[in-house]
Amino acid sequence: MDKKFRVFATCDIGEAIELVRKRGYEVEVYPHPEAPPKKVIVEKVKSGIDGLITTLRDPIDAEIFEAGKERLKVVAQYAVGFDNINRADANRYKIPFTNTADVLTEATAEFAFFMMGELARRMWSAEHLARENKWGFWHPYLPFLGDEVSGKTVAVIGTGRIGLAFIKKCVGFDMNVLCYDPAYENHAFVKTVQEINDLRHARGLTREKAWIRYLGFEDALRGADFVSIHVPLLRQGESATPTFHLFNEKTLRLMKSTAFLVNTSRGPVLDEAALARALRENWIAGAALDVYEKEPLPKDSPLRDPAIEDRCRLMPHFASAARITRLSADPEKGMAGRCVQGLIDVLEANYGGDVTRMPYVVNKEAFGK
Ligand code: NAD
Repeated sequence: MDKKFRVFATCDIGEAIELVRKRGYEVEVYPHPEAPPKKVIVEKVKSGIDGLITTLRDPIDAEIFEAGKERLKVVAQYAVGFDNINRADANRYKIPFTNTADVLTEATAEFAFFMMGELARRMWSAEHLARENKWGFWHPYLPFLGDEVSGKTVAVIGTGRIGLAFIKKCVGFDMNVLCYDPAYENHAFVKTVQEINDLRHARGLTREKAWIRYLGFEDALRGADFVSIHVPLLRQGESATPTFHLFNEKTLRLMKSTAFLVNTSRGPVLDEAALARALRENWIAGAALDVYEKEPLPKDSPLRDPAIEDRCRLMPHFASAARITRLSADPEKGMAGRCVQGLIDVLEANYGGDVTRMPYVVNKEAFGK
């Protein structure tokens, strides 16, 4: 390569960084595990980098793009979600940004599924009994029981990549599925799942025939034993169907009092104060969360209330946190690999330099003719 590119990564993403260095890039990695202060990112961008590797912890907006207007060519986001990047600002400055869609789909979907099972079967409370030596006897129903997942009805809110992968896991547990997505209804997928349900039933694998269908939001919430959220965070003005506080007092009250809620999407999709009330006052049976309105979860969050701890599982934004998914340098397998491939595509002008043909660029609309 005749030109040496300079890159700043706000976080270490493992061996993929070495691959880029081997191509002759000069890469500086922020040396601490915490996110860098924004002013550090601004300074680095101002110093004349060509590429910036970011995570969901970094606010990327006009201030950053302004600092990079002489030289910055790409922002490569290490995540599928990009609500930390101001898309309108990126478009205004004509800076492409990339994400790592697809490679974390199965890992995130299975984690959501496991959270649902852990919550419903009360595994956290059960392990506490064993560990704290409070397991005094075997008894038909004391000190508590959980609820089965198998054969129940789950509402999947958002049937994009992760929502559909989540449904695939549910099929194996003979679950009925209520799908909701105002922008994208995948009827071919629903038809295939129904065919699989029918075959499983016809061959004697299931006693009841499971079903799947699209429904309106409110009806999906009313009909479900479980609700799993798989939408992007879209604030007012960013979409005709924003998802900010999609789950609030009004919508939580639509759910059955025996139903469980799982959120692995983004924290602000859910009004946490309303959820804490819903759990305290038993509007719903429980919730398992991986993401929060403010991360890390503040010490004084109402979600930490000991009165609801038996029905509120709290995970540290961990759904994609599996070894291969996070660190593989293979762009077909890992977020690290896909992130640097997105960076390389733009900097090395792959695809004839046509940004609109680069598979990992998100804001293609800014580069059309
Ligand atoms: P995707 O774009 O493939 O799917 C999102 C779906 O949500 C789309 O089909 C879209 O039409 C739908 N949608 C948009 N607005 C909606 C609304 N108001 N109501 C219902 N559906 C709506 O994205 P994906 O790859 O499936 O990822 C989904 C989100 O999951 C990401 O944006 C990210 O925020 C989150 N995520 C979290 C983790 C984690 O570690 N917890 C990991 C990966 C992704």
